[in-house]
Amino acid sequence: MSSKANSFLFDNIDSSSRSLEREIIGLSEQRRPLIITHLGHGKDSAFRIMIMAGQHGDEKYGRRAVSHLVASLAPSFKRDFPHTGLAVLPDANPDGSYHRTRTNSAHVDLNRDHQRLDSQETRVIHSFVRTWKPHIIIDVHNYPSRRKHLLAKNLTYYPDILIDIPTNPAIQILDMENTHDLMRTINRDLAINDFSSDRYTIVKPSGKARHSTGDIDDARNFLSLRYNALTILLEGRNPTREDGEGGKEHIILAQHHALSSLLRWAHKNKRSFMEKEASVPSTGDRIPICSRRKLAEHPLHMKFKNVVTETVTDTVFYNYKPELEVTKYAKLPRAYAVPPDKKKITEILHRHGFSSCLSDPKKTALVEYHVIDSLKPSSRENRAPLRISVVSRKESRMLDGYNIFPTIQKGGQCLALFLEPESRYGLHRYSELDLTILPNSAYPILRVL
Ligand SMILES: [Zn+2]
Repeated sequence: MSSKANSFLFDNIDSSSRSLEREIIGLSEQRRPLIITHLGHGKDSAFRIMIMAGQHGDEKYGRRAVSHLVASLAPSFKRDFPHTGLAVLPDANPDGSYHRTRTNSAHVDLNRDHQRLDSQETRVIHSFVRTWKPHIIIDVHNYPSRRKHLLAKNLTYYPDILIDIPTNPAIQILDMENTHDLMRTINRDLAINDFSSDRYTIVKPSGKARHSTGDIDDARNFLSLRYNALTILLEGRNPTREDGEGGKEHIILAQHHALSSLLRWAHKNKRSFMEKEASVPSTGDRIPICSRRKLAEHPLHMKFKNVVTETVTDTVFYNYKPELEVTKYAKLPRAYAVPPDKKKITEILHRHGFSSCLSDPKKTALVEYHVIDSLKPSSRENRAPLRISVVSRKESRMLDGYNIFPTIQKGGQCLALFLEPESRYGLHRYSELDLTILPNSAYPILRVL
C-alpha cells in the first residue's frame, strides 16, 4: 500500500495544476474566496459534473483527495472525458478549514443549511449550481469510525468509503436499478484496488440501522430536489492510530479512487442524466410531503472491525429500515401566497432563486387556506409538529401585498415541501422564521387555485 501511496502522492502535482482555469465564485463570511477549478469544456459542456469537498472544515482528507484528483485528471481530462465539464470546489468552507472547525465562522453547519441558506458559503454554492447547472454533484466528507455505543461492543466502522444517494421520496432521479449499478460499480472498483466500501449506514445505540436521513436540509437531498442534480455523498473514514503510518495516505487514495470511479460511472451513464434537465412541475402534481421508514424484508449485513481481535466481522441488523414510504402527498396548487408580514419566508424563497410577483390589489383570487385543528409539537429542535390535523377551506380573497410564488417554475415542487402546513420538511419547523404552526389558528400561507 505505501509504495502505491508514495508514487501517487508525490507525483508532480504542481507542474500539472499550474495551467488550470480557476474561478472565484464568491467569498466566505470572513471574506476568504471560494475557488472552483474547471476541467474540460466548462459551462458549455453537454454533460457537467461538480465535486465539492470540505463543507465541514475539520474534514481535511476529503479536501486533499479532491486536490490530488484534479492534479491527476488535468493532463488528459478532455481526452478521457469528452464533452464533459468538471467543476471542482476543493474547499467549500475556507473559514472552517482555516480554523479547523466543522462549522463556518458563524457556527453554521453548512451541510444542514441548504434549506435555509443562512450562511454566505451555502448561498455562494447555490448560486453557482443555479448558473452552472451540473447534472451530477459529488459531496465529499470524512467520517469517524469510532462511536461510543459500537466501541462498547468492541466494534468500529470498517469501510474506507461510504456512499449514499438522495433519499427523500420527492426526489426521483435514480431508480433501484441505477442505484444498485452505482453501488456495485464503486464497490467492485474499490475492491480491485484493495479498498473497502459500502452504502452509508447509521447504526443507532438501539440497534436500528438505516441509511442517510430523508431530510432536505443537506446538500445530497436538497440540491437533488431543487436542481434535479443527482447529488452523491462520498465519505472517507477518518484514519485512526491503529491504521499506522500509511493510514492517512490510504484514506486519501481510497477517496481518490472512489471519485475516479464515480466520474467514470457518471460519464458512462451521462445520456440518462442529460435527458433530465431541471424539471418544471405541473399544477395538480402529487408531491410527497411526509414519509415513514419501512422495515426491510431482509436484515442488513455489514462489515465492522473488532478492535480486540483486530478482525473484520460480518454483523447482522434485523431492525433495518433502508427506505421511506410516503404517508402524505400535497396536490400542487397554481401558486402559494405569502402574506406581507412573513418577510423572512419571502426572503428565503428568493435566496433559492424562486421568482414571485405581487398580487394585483384590484382583483380577488380563489384560494384555499388551512385551519390547524390540533397538533403535537415535536420534542426535537427544528422538526415539524407531529400528528397535525388541518381543516381546509376555499374562498375568494383580495391578496393585497401578498407575494405570489407560482409553482410552475424550475424546482417548483420544493415550494410544497417548504410551505405546506403538513409537510415534514416545512419552513414552519424553524422557530426563527416566524411561521410557527399553532393549534386553533389559520395557517398564514395560502394556496392559490
Ligand atoms: Zn462532513
